Amino acid sequence: MRDVFAVVYVLLIVLLGLFGVISKRSTKSIGLAVSYLLFTFIVPITGNLILVLSENELLSTIGSYTYFIGMDLMAFSLFDFTLAYCNISWKKHKNIYIIYALLTIDIIQYFFNPFFGHAFGMEAITVDNAPYYRLVPYAGQEFHRIAVYFTFATSLGVFIYKTIRVPRIYAEKYYVILFTMVLAGIWQSYYIFTRTPVDRSMMGLAVCGILIFYFSLYFRPFRLLDRMLANIASKMSEAIYFFDASKRCIWANSIGCTLLDIDPDNLENVKQRLSAMFDDLGDEQANWTSRQQISSGKDTRYFSLEKHLVTDAKNKKIGYFLSIQDNTKDVLRHQREIYNATHDNLTGLFTKEYLFNLIKEKVTKNSATNYSIAYFDIRNFKMVNDIFGNDMGDKVLIRVAEWIKENATDEWVYGRLAGDSFGVCFPTGSIKLGPIERRLSRFIISNDSFDQNILMHVGIYRVTDPSIDVSIMFDRAHLAQTTIKNEYNKHIAVYNEQMRDQVLWDQKISADLEKALEERQIVPYLQPIVNNKGSIIGAEALVRWIHPEEGFLAPFKFIPVFEKNGMIVEVDKYIWRCACETLASWTDKRADMFISVNISPKDFYFIDVYAEIKDLVEEFKIEPSRLRIEITETVMMTDAEKRMAILKKFRESGFIVEMDDFGSGYSSLNQLKDMPIDVLKIDMKFLSKAEDNKRAETILRNILRLSSDLELCSLTEGVETEDQYKMLNEMGCNLFQGYYFAKPISVADFEKLTA
Ligand code: C2E
Ligand code: CA
Ligand code: CA
Repeated sequence: MRDVFAVVYVLLIVLLGLFGVISKRSTKSIGLAVSYLLFTFIVPITGNLILVLSENELLSTIGSYTYFIGMDLMAFSLFDFTLAYCNISWKKHKNIYIIYALLTIDIIQYFFNPFFGHAFGMEAITVDNAPYYRLVPYAGQEFHRIAVYFTFATSLGVFIYKTIRVPRIYAEKYYVILFTMVLAGIWQSYYIFTRTPVDRSMMGLAVCGILIFYFSLYFRPFRLLDRMLANIASKMSEAIYFFDASKRCIWANSIGCTLLDIDPDNLENVKQRLSAMFDDLGDEQANWTSRQQISSGKDTRYFSLEKHLVTDAKNKKIGYFLSIQDNTKDVLRHQREIYNATHDNLTGLFTKEYLFNLIKEKVTKNSATNYSIAYFDIRNFKMVNDIFGNDMGDKVLIRVAEWIKENATDEWVYGRLAGDSFGVCFPTGSIKLGPIERRLSRFIISNDSFDQNILMHVGIYRVTDPSIDVSIMFDRAHLAQTTIKNEYNKHIAVYNEQMRDQVLWDQKISADLEKALEERQIVPYLQPIVNNKGSIIGAEALVRWIHPEEGFLAPFKFIPVFEKNGMIVEVDKYIWRCACETLASWTDKRADMFISVNISPKDFYFIDVYAEIKDLVEEFKIEPSRLRIEITETVMMTDAEKRMAILKKFRESGFIVEMDDFGSGYSSLNQLKDMPIDVLKIDMKFLSKAEDNKRAETILRNILRLSSDLELCSLTEGVETEDQYKMLNEMGCNLFQGYYFAKPISVADFEKLTA
């Protein structure tokens, strides 16, 4: 009988060793704790094996020591396993060390037993007709029991605690181990307390170890998984339906029931309802996805459907499930986002970026059609906005957008480019410019209390090459638009190549200006001014640019460009300085001569003209009356009062102020009487345009009379013939300038002429 036990123990030792090695190699974190546990199980079993086999006292005693120390080690590793399995940290629970201390003391006391005999002794009995040594426990043995039971009970306690405290679906993981341990504990105690000579408890221990090995490393809590999956499925935001192999619905989550308006306990109608709701439910044999929309009346709902086959381990179909998601909110949000990104929110027209894309697509796709690009700009928008407020501004933009919409045909694409500009792309023939021109000449937007005329200019570019960038097409249309200057009777300009050349020219000479001034390529020419006796009494300074590449440039080639971009200020300041230099150098015969300089309206805008010129005459110490100031009527068009004050200051300081090109622009005879000027400069050019010479003569005569009535000095420029000179003289004109006397000439030539 003892032999049989021995064989069983050996088998158990081998088995535990094997499982111990397997656990140690496991990739699971609990593996190491399990392997130590299994290895320590081997020690007390080995002790028992020795006990069972030995027939003398010494061997039996060695067996007993092995057994007891093994039990301590086992308690050690059981507790260690418990902590690892239940995720309890050493650091948080310092009192855990009591357990380790108890077990260590126990091991030490066994080492003293051979000397003091306090723990146990051996008594000889007979088992199976052979001598057998049974243990006789003393006080020390009690301590051992306390230490081991205490450790065991603490481990059980931890498992019980876990079983109770974790959510119910996790409890399974703990109570299988708990159950195993309780069983082993009872089995073990039975043999200890009945003092059955041959200890069979070792078998229970080993089985406990093997079960722990299995549960910790291989057991998958299916019930936990099941419940988790069911829980997840029922809480999903999608409607979910499970169908068995015979295509009967066996389960639907609550959203699924609500979607089809069915009772969760009666799933008979699921299939029927689904078919009624959706066009297509896919092939039952395959995985499938689809997006479908369901419209009822005005609103549409959007769904995405997904079907998955469910198969068993052998890939045999056991059913399928269908999930349906209501994407309506997302789809609508997405549609709204797309709309917002592509539409201007004030006017509802396309945004610039989107419009450009559409145009690109259109012109490249239909390359047989000729397209044009129109750039609409509200010229007085800033004024409307500033004076009448943003609400009126918004109203204007909306009205213009509506007007474009009303006129648009299906072939047009149009949108808002920026604050007050709109863009349209249309087949070239589809717009008649005449009617649009007429419409734009009177584009009135009425408010509650007043009517506002909207000044809109349109630049048109005919697309000759569909491959160029849409932004460049619009640049060209815009360029055409900018060539319409403050005109109220012309609203449309069509782009041509000269416009581009002009831009290039503008850029070139603007870039050249700084160097030109430094190198004195820019010089004043002087055109003599004579009195009624024909003697030269002064000159007008007229700018010339002797350009190293472009040659001799007359002012019309560059003055308008610089007036547009403000660089005229640099040119004028330079000419004024040159004029002062020249005046300062004149002595004797020329000591009383004057030079008139031109002042552009832009000069008043950018600099303090008065301070600038006053400083110059002081610097060169010249009489202010020798530097005459020529201004045009346009200077008075903005800030009239302020400008008037400046002219007054000039006159008070002794300068002579001349009104240039009188009669060419917005002459207001009425304003003339209050103007702080000394000289009225009349240009023959404007008069000779009049068809009837007699009429021109009459006008001239009257202007000259008016001039003398207002006690102004009169100067006629553009005098080309002797007849003209005689006639003007007779009419009482005071001063004369023109090719008849001399063309504008260099300072050196002028000085020769007047030597
Ligand atoms: P403006 O001030 O009216 O100058 C008179 C223009 O008439 C000059 O043209 C002159 O050469 C021309 N002229 C003189 N006598 C006759 C004549 O008998 N027959 C004809 N057909 N023309 C005559 P220019 O020098 O080409 O100057 C053109 C315009 O350029 C000037 O008109 C003036 O507005 C502007 N300008 C010239 N120099 C300057 C300057 O230094 N600063 C500014 N701001 N503008 C200038
Ligand atoms: Ca002039
Ligand atoms: Ca003039």
